[in-house]
Amino acid sequence: MKVLIYNEFLHEREEGEAKRLYPNGIHHRLAEALGGIDDTLEFSFATLEDHAQVITNEKLDETDVLIWWGHMAHHRVEDSVVDLVCEAVNKGMGLVCLHSGHESKVFRRLMGTRCSVHWRVDYENGNIWMLDETHPLCRGVHNPIRLEAEETYSEPFDIPTPDELVGITWWKGGEIFRSLCVYKRGHGKIVYFQPGHETLTSYYNEDVIRVIDNAVHYTYPSVRIDELTSRYRMPEEKDVRRALYQSPENRESMIVSWDELGDGTVRYTGAEHPHTYELKVDP
Ligand code: ZN
Repeated sequence: MKVLIYNEFLHEREEGEAKRLYPNGIHHRLAEALGGIDDTLEFSFATLEDHAQVITNEKLDETDVLIWWGHMAHHRVEDSVVDLVCEAVNKGMGLVCLHSGHESKVFRRLMGTRCSVHWRVDYENGNIWMLDETHPLCRGVHNPIRLEAEETYSEPFDIPTPDELVGITWWKGGEIFRSLCVYKRGHGKIVYFQPGHETLTSYYNEDVIRVIDNAVHYTYPSVRIDELTSRYRMPEEKDVRRALYQSPENRESMIVSWDELGDGTVRYTGAEHPHTYELKVDP
């Protein structure tokens, strides 16, 4: 399973707590922690610095799931990259958006709302309550997940109503937050998961890592839309008529073999999509 991790990688390069906790960057910590519990994952990385070079169409075509962590430089992510990522999700690529990634261009575009939250920087403890312990995102996870300290995101969270609301965080201060949400966009699944402030230890919390691993598996594409369209695309009658009767010089590029069954019905096998169809064609 090919997992691409985007981390803007700015906080961890400044002196301070983020650098101390995540000296090689949040992206490498996530890969180390996820890889430690799951040897089916193959990682590659992109950062703000190289994202436009790394996140190409070719790269996304071979990516099963993209994990996105960004915070202070959402506006510096290239719009052309956002276009590619959103299109890849529509085709079926999984997206796992973490913590302050809620305000990334990618997430906001896919949600269609501002995705703003209320927040406090009190780093207090909270419990993430799983609403459905049978959900695949909850596999192997304690309920509740106890967060020692995390940035306090709270409602109202300006997102569309989630397709599946799997977890809600309760904070010591009394607020609540929809912290684990699933969406479907096109053929792709998207998971948003709240923990992961850069100066806190959430990515050393086994339950948090387990949820992210579950999210990678849950958003893993079962099929890409390109396969679907080629498997089920039915050539139009006018194209078949043109190939058979009006400009047969291009016939082989479209039709491998064909029989006339009488009353105008033709049974033919397509060239590009080798399936046999029957179609009533008026020559
Ligand atoms: Zn934060």
